Amino acid sequence: MTQPAQLVLIEDEPAIADTLGFALQREGWQVRHFGLAQAGEAYLATHRADLLILDVGLPDDSGFEVLKRLRRSSDMPVLLLTARAEEFDRILGLELGADDYVVKPFSPREVAARVRAILKRSRAASPAPEATVSTAPLSAPIQSLFVHDAAARRVSFCGSALVLTPSEYHLMVSLLTRPGHVLSRAQLLDALGDAAEDSFERTIDSHIKSLRAKLRAVRADLDPIATHRGFGYALAVS
Ligand code: CA
Repeated sequence: MTQPAQLVLIEDEPAIADTLGFALQREGWQVRHFGLAQAGEAYLATHRADLLILDVGLPDDSGFEVLKRLRRSSDMPVLLLTARAEEFDRILGLELGADDYVVKPFSPREVAARVRAILKRSRAASPAPEATVSTAPLSAPIQSLFVHDAAARRVSFCGSALVLTPSEYHLMVSLLTRPGHVLSRAQLLDALGDAAEDSFERTIDSHIKSLRAKLRAVRADLDPIATHRGFGYALAVS
């Protein structure tokens, strides 16, 4: 037996998460649970998992949106948990790239059986690569650790593709475009354009905060985004 499979469960109902987590762990799998889409996505941006069990009805976002974003950078197997048995949801979920779905209410044993089948399929298809987190000392400027693929709207940091919200993506690109230049919150807000969910400058702070968390998860020892109190933010140059 190789390493136990690493499962991520994004489910907001504690009773379901507890029952399911218990049943899956009993199968010998490791389960990491998140109650919100954002927390689960931040984790998945920087950690390898063998399978994601994803509730469609999450308080902070739709599971479909989570799946859509995940599929831009990952082919990780996904099992959807859906409350509705409508055919629309099933078809949409599969079209968006889910590997399977179960309709609530379900028995934990049924979910475990689906998980086992998906893991078997995916392990047969490709052996999982080892997760690597670099801790090598820096020998290059910080901005060279980033790779921006404009066509794919994707930014990688130290070789890890970041899973960013549209706002975080626009902020990251603005900072990358002018390393060392301090950009004011107002300038950064302009850069968000259509991605801005609302027009308050303080939302920049919260986007920067979650962006930093995603970067820290890749390299905890680096803090590429510098705060200039009272002015704004800049990409640090070393
Ligand atoms: Ca739910």
